[in-house]
Amino acid sequence: MESIVERINQQKFWQFHGGIHPPEQKKLTSDKPIRQLPLPKQLILPLQQHIGSQGDLLIKVGDKVLKGQPLTQSTNPMAVPIHAPTSGVISAIKKSVIAHPSGLSDLCIFLDVDFNDTWLPRRICQDFTQLTKNEIISKIANAGIAGMGGAGFPTHIKVNTKPDINFLIINAAECEPYITADDLLMCEQSEAIIDGIKILDQLLNPAFILIGIENNKPKAIKALQKATQFIDKMKVCTLPTKYPTGGEKQLIKILTGKEVKSGALPIHSGIVVQNVATCFAISDAVIHDIPLIRRVVTLTGQALSKPQNVWALLGTPVSYLLEQTGFTNENTADNNKNINLPPPVIMGGPLMGFSILNELVPIVKTSNCILAPSKTEMPSAFDNNSKELECIRCGQCSDVCPSQLLPQELQWSAKAKDYQQLTKLNIFDCIDCGACAYVCPSQIPLVQYYRVAKAEIRQQQQLDIKSEKAKVRFEARKLRLEKEKIAREEKHKKAAAARKATMNKKSADGTSASSAVAAALARVKAKKEATEKTVSDSPTINNGKTKEHDELSSTSNEDQGDKSQVKAAIARAKAKRLAKSRAAEEKSDALPTAISVEDEAEDEKSQVKAAIARAKAKRLAKSQAVEKQEETTETTETTETTETTETNNEAIEPPIANNKANNEDKKVKIAAAIAKAKAKKEAKNEIKAPEVNLENKKSDVVTPNVDDKKTRIALAVAKAKAKAKAKANAKKDQKKQAELLQITNNEAKSSLKLSKEESE
Ligand code: SF4
Ligand code: SF4
Repeated sequence: MESIVERINQQKFWQFHGGIHPPEQKKLTSDKPIRQLPLPKQLILPLQQHIGSQGDLLIKVGDKVLKGQPLTQSTNPMAVPIHAPTSGVISAIKKSVIAHPSGLSDLCIFLDVDFNDTWLPRRICQDFTQLTKNEIISKIANAGIAGMGGAGFPTHIKVNTKPDINFLIINAAECEPYITADDLLMCEQSEAIIDGIKILDQLLNPAFILIGIENNKPKAIKALQKATQFIDKMKVCTLPTKYPTGGEKQLIKILTGKEVKSGALPIHSGIVVQNVATCFAISDAVIHDIPLIRRVVTLTGQALSKPQNVWALLGTPVSYLLEQTGFTNENTADNNKNINLPPPVIMGGPLMGFSILNELVPIVKTSNCILAPSKTEMPSAFDNNSKELECIRCGQCSDVCPSQLLPQELQWSAKAKDYQQLTKLNIFDCIDCGACAYVCPSQIPLVQYYRVAKAEIRQQQQLDIKSEKAKVRFEARKLRLEKEKIAREEKHKKAAAARKATMNKKSADGTSASSAVAAALARVKAKKEATEKTVSDSPTINNGKTKEHDELSSTSNEDQGDKSQVKAAIARAKAKRLAKSRAAEEKSDALPTAISVEDEAEDEKSQVKAAIARAKAKRLAKSQAVEKQEETTETTETTETTETTETNNEAIEPPIANNKANNEDKKVKIAAAIAKAKAKKEAKNEIKAPEVNLENKKSDVVTPNVDDKKTRIALAVAKAKAKAKAKANAKKDQKKQAELLQITNNEAKSSLKLSKEESE
């Protein structure tokens, strides 16, 4: 920092790369004061005169407006309002040709001037030092100030910076040939310009304020030095004349020796650069409440009889300015061809300006010069036939390029529309200075190629941004749809799970219900069968109670009681069948001794009689056997004693066995009779039980008696067991009885035989 200040104090500066020294041609206008022109009849005001976006209209056709009245406004910080340069009536709002190299049209406000030049009431600021930073920035923004050096960047954004500023550089170089607008402004409005610089100092509070001005403006240098002689931090830096010293990065390099890298901004190096005309506009806005509605324009060229600098209202058509300066269209005078060609008029300087094909193009905030050259002065402007030759790779363009680019390669890539390569070659570091085209021996309009290429790249970038936004929207929509799909699937899964659960529940309910139905059907079937059997087998049941039973069984709540009744009926039926089958078996197995099985009493009597007969027969046989043995013993001698003894023993044993058998037979028969009686009694009880239950059901129909049921089941089981046992015992008894009877019969036969033999 110290060395920079020392070098500045010593007026020693750095050099930037390249640059040219074209003829200055400034003397055409540099010695003439700035002229106030009469008001034109109509002003044409493009809504956008700067870098950024245009504001919204505040007026409509037919509205009367006052001088200084805002015509547009916007909340967009990059939007800068426009104001009515004078009073009048809005006659039209439509598209018209604007000041742009493309020659395209844009929306414009047509203001018919009423020549009263009536101001909107203003509030003059007596002491701007009392204003806050925000108030100053607001005044600058509301005044619609944009960079007046040519870039047109909104000033209120550029000065609203937070980082510490080391250098505030005021660009007063005005290096392009012919242009003297800033020179004259500095000469005539140096105090106002210094006020504007002071306002910026109040906003930015830089360490140093450097005013860079080329040494070809001696009057302006003196004026500035006089205005700043008592301001220590403000230095007027007189620079050697070299084009393009007025380039922002080039001026920073000259004054501070710092290089602003590609893609970076001066603010990144703690430097803010403002044009000297912008400083004047800031002074007007903050102190005098005058928006940016006018500017100094250099009207120059040998085609003008009275070249000069003028205060031109924004929106003033170029045709009107040319009229005021005695312009002669040399193409119109081409009587030989009888063709009216448009005049070769250039907006801006000869190096950075562009030709305008319509004289209705208006002056805007960045317009500093209208150049109307003569044929001898600039013959190329009158020659429509291109004299462009092939590049000879001389490299002169690279040598003079202040941005240290490769102009010839840029040209090739621009012709090939290789935008990727152009970007790699840092085409946006090109400041359109035209130095390369100026030195090109092949007369290649290099800058025109670069401008077209940059415009197309910007357009492509805008499309890419739109495409990226569309892609983001698409991705967001896709994501949203996927989320919705997942949500739907989850919902469907939950619904399916709920349905499945419900179905499972219903299935379980259905199973139980079907089981219950099956059980009910089984009960009904069993009940029906039991009822039929009961009716057919038991006449006693087929009475009034049966009707009651039927009525009761018709209700589903009586199932348990009915079941018991059915079981009892089945048990009774089984008992009866068993008794019948037993009786049938006894009949079929009965011996000729005629033991009756139908009448139990007679059976017992018969059995007793048979037993008595058997006992008598046994005793008789025994006595006869004893008598015979005695006789045998008496008559027979005894070597055969053993045999006789054995024979006697055998003869004696049967009566004893017969007695035992008779006793056992009797016991068995008695037991069988008792079992049979028990079975009958149980069967009778079982038959009575339903009657009791039915009676109970009359009073308590819906409450089945579980204990009663169990009891009946137990009784039925016991009865079945007793029956089975009785049956088995009966069979066993019958078998034994048959054996005993057979033995008895045999003994009787043998006794009778012996008796016959004895009698014989
Ligand atoms: S116009 Fe661009 S490429 Fe040509 S000299 Fe200037 S900065 Fe370099
Ligand atoms: S100055 Fe012209 S001819 Fe020479 S290298 Fe550059 S573009 Fe090619």
